[in-house]
Amino acid sequence: MAKVIIVGAGAAGLFAAAIVAANGHQTELYEKNGVPGKKLLITGKGRCNLTNSCEKENFFQAVVSNPKFLYSAINRFDQNQFLSYLREIGLKTKIERGNRVFPESDKSSDVVSVLVKQCRRFGVKFHYHSKVDKLYSSDHCCKGIILSDGTKIQSDAVILACGGLSYPTTGSTGEGYTLAKEIGHHIVETLPALVPIETKENWVKDVQGLSLKNVRIQIFAKNSEREKKRKILYEDFGEMLFTHFGVSGPVILSASSHIGRLLKTEELILAIDLKPALSDKQLDLRFLREFEQHRNQLVSRVLRTLYPQKLIPILMKKTKIALDRRAYSLLAEEREALLFHTKEFCLTLHKLRDYREAVITQGGVCVQEISPSTMESKKISRLYMIGEMLDLDAKTGGFNLQIAWSTAYAAAMSI
Ligand SMILES: Cc1cc2nc3c(=O)[nH]c(=O)nc-3n(C[C@H](O)[C@H](O)[C@H](O)COP(=O)(O)OP(=O)(O)OC[C@H]3O[C@@H](n4cnc5c(N)ncnc54)[C@H](O)[C@@H]3O)c2cc1C
Repeated sequence: MAKVIIVGAGAAGLFAAAIVAANGHQTELYEKNGVPGKKLLITGKGRCNLTNSCEKENFFQAVVSNPKFLYSAINRFDQNQFLSYLREIGLKTKIERGNRVFPESDKSSDVVSVLVKQCRRFGVKFHYHSKVDKLYSSDHCCKGIILSDGTKIQSDAVILACGGLSYPTTGSTGEGYTLAKEIGHHIVETLPALVPIETKENWVKDVQGLSLKNVRIQIFAKNSEREKKRKILYEDFGEMLFTHFGVSGPVILSASSHIGRLLKTEELILAIDLKPALSDKQLDLRFLREFEQHRNQLVSRVLRTLYPQKLIPILMKKTKIALDRRAYSLLAEEREALLFHTKEFCLTLHKLRDYREAVITQGGVCVQEISPSTMESKKISRLYMIGEMLDLDAKTGGFNLQIAWSTAYAAAMSI
């Protein structure tokens, strides 16, 4: 029987502890908060989208950073195996749109409870309010941890499951990176991901709360805006939202994971196609029909049949059509401008919001220094790292938690 220390009682740490202990090891879990799973509790808006039941190939497509590193861990313990495990330990689940899996009760607290119950069943010892400050090693072998009060605790293996930097009030304040760095690991520059984006345009304040459904977005470099062959950096279709500082909502959060690094050095253009289902010709015919049918009405009034009301003053400003213009007076080039700005309603992306609003951290412990089948450090034996602290991140839909479960399982079973 080995003595195994796990640092962090989040998703990855709790699951790893449950598996290590179930395999008969003396398992000690150190958590700086007074409760386990603080972040897990707020996942999925309190419902916990605990995994995604998509085909395995699709799983890897949903991983943004280092999908190949995950092949081994996911093949060994995938979504279906995790769902079987939950069934066995008494948690019923349900599948929703986009293969998102939730507890049947819609309560993330049930996920935390069932994992804690498993830990307790196999004798995991919980140490709350216990912040791990250092790791110690000899001959490239991890020997234990040192707590913030100076207590030194020896062990046969240490699993770091300290999370990243996002939502720091949950306890994820990046200490895992410091612990890993101090013992010789390289940290890939971190940045917030699955996070809203600030725009340069201030008018977003006037339309805050407005959500656009079924829009197509494209993001490209500002300096390629006028070029014939602009390089599209990200493209998506779905729902987005205006906020007091910029843009948010599903397609924007997903985009943030792909363009965050670039946005640090240059401004990017977000072009929204407000009518992706209509070709330019169809849209122009629609304009002609509407303006003909309502000849004497204000243009801004006629446009209400085509756009959300809040957006119309912005569109009029972009097209330089005065608010007092009547439909009959509209010139062909003005209609053309309307068409242009409908198919390419542009904003300038300025910067990502910070970690306090980010669902996940991009970057982290460099995965080239970690064994993909066991999560053991290639630099220091008997030291394992799992979950969000590794340079792994995926889009929304339950994929990030599956990364935590699969990497935790790989480490636990290896021990
Ligand atoms: C608002 C929000 C909603 C989300 N919703 C979903 C969702 O529905 N589905 C999904 O798949 N993903 C979701 N995620 C992402 C998901 O929560 C993370 O991927 C996951 O929690 C990572 O698990 P982890 O165990 O690696 O880290 P964490 O859950 O962050 O746990 C790390 C733990 O380590 C502790 N710790 C840190 N340093 C120390 C130290 N030095 N000593 C002792 N303890 C320490 C922390 O206090 C914390 O409890 C969401 C994230 C957020 C912020």
